[in-house]
Amino acid sequence: MKYVIRNGILLDGTRDMQPQHGRSVFINGEKIERITDQTAEVPKGYKVIDAQGMYILPGLINMHVHLAGNGKPQKKQRDNAKLVRLLFSNPVSAKAAEVMVAGYAKIELMSGVTTIRTVGGLKDLDTRLRDEIAAGKKAGPRILAANEGISVPGGHMAGSVAIAATSIEEAVDLVRKADRQHVDLIKLMITGGVLDAKEKGVPGEMKMPPEMIRAICDEAHRLGYRTAAHTESTEGVIQALRNGVDSIEHGAAPTEEMIRLFKERKAFLTTTLSPALPYAMFPREVSNASEVEQFNGQVVFDGIRDCAKAAIENDIPVALGNDVGCPWITQYDFWRELVYFKNYTGVSNAYALYTATLNNAVLAGIGDITGSLEEGKCADLILVEENPLEDLQDLRNVRLVMARGRLYDKPTVRRKKIVDEELDKYLQA
Ligand SMILES: [Zn+2]
Repeated sequence: MKYVIRNGILLDGTRDMQPQHGRSVFINGEKIERITDQTAEVPKGYKVIDAQGMYILPGLINMHVHLAGNGKPQKKQRDNAKLVRLLFSNPVSAKAAEVMVAGYAKIELMSGVTTIRTVGGLKDLDTRLRDEIAAGKKAGPRILAANEGISVPGGHMAGSVAIAATSIEEAVDLVRKADRQHVDLIKLMITGGVLDAKEKGVPGEMKMPPEMIRAICDEAHRLGYRTAAHTESTEGVIQALRNGVDSIEHGAAPTEEMIRLFKERKAFLTTTLSPALPYAMFPREVSNASEVEQFNGQVVFDGIRDCAKAAIENDIPVALGNDVGCPWITQYDFWRELVYFKNYTGVSNAYALYTATLNNAVLAGIGDITGSLEEGKCADLILVEENPLEDLQDLRNVRLVMARGRLYDKPTVRRKKIVDEELDKYLQA
């Protein structure tokens, strides 16, 4: 299909983006063919889309996604490992899991997210879905997939969206298994998380031995993959960076040594404020968190915020993801992460939008194909009514989505009322 989008205001996704009036975007097949003056003649064969003065911007890129969950608030912690075992114990429920995952990916797309990076999923569902979407068989965002993460017995997500390696040999074998599934990156779980901690002050306890981190990263690099690690304590981040991790997922209270290691390794940080916020800030009768979980949620939230701030101050690249799948984090709310990023680290709206588009694309290794509105790049774009540079909340309602040139007019998502009601209280700093 060929389209021309006219009468819109362009935000191109670059760091210093400014609204560009009077531009037309020509799309031919999957790609942006050219961006011209409004007055340019439209050749035959192009379907004209009137943007009616709306803002045209690159589709968002969510760098930390788990496709196995819908973010529904929970009364109490579930045994996720047991649930996953049950799910894959028979072909009917296994098929249902596949359908569920595809449905969640579609919600990301309908909310304006045209690329996701998955960092812990069920079996090889993420790579399979990635290929089906790429082949045009299903509607969904571009997927960079890690499939199952690598954890240790008793470690983060072990048995649900990660496999526990009991030895270094097993861990290396898991890297090779991921390679056979043609993943895009390798995910490892180095520390615990908020819900893994049974005592106050230890939410990011080391779980994976440094030698195992090293062996996983070495094998991944040998096979041509980059590594992303769940890390939620200062010690965890330092061990991750010392042993070859390429991206720190979440982050923790920064130190000078941590900053130095980030630079030496040329690693980046994926900031995820969304999952910690409910634990840290909601009244406990709303979050259903224990006192220990609330305390640790605050430790993690502060660590992620301070790590992001220190990274920005020190020119360490920062990506954004929202850890969707965690309680309260739905597949359609990535825009909230941009709002938190701006509110809690003090960056501008333009910088938050640049981070969630072009910068995320560059850090994911696909900066040459998506992330900005430029001639020759994929036609991954969205339309919103008001200017997100004035208010990032305008990203909540996306009026049109185009992914690799495929048009989704008037996309809708079914919102959960309770999630909106509670999270909307935290949109101001
Ligand atoms: Zn995660």
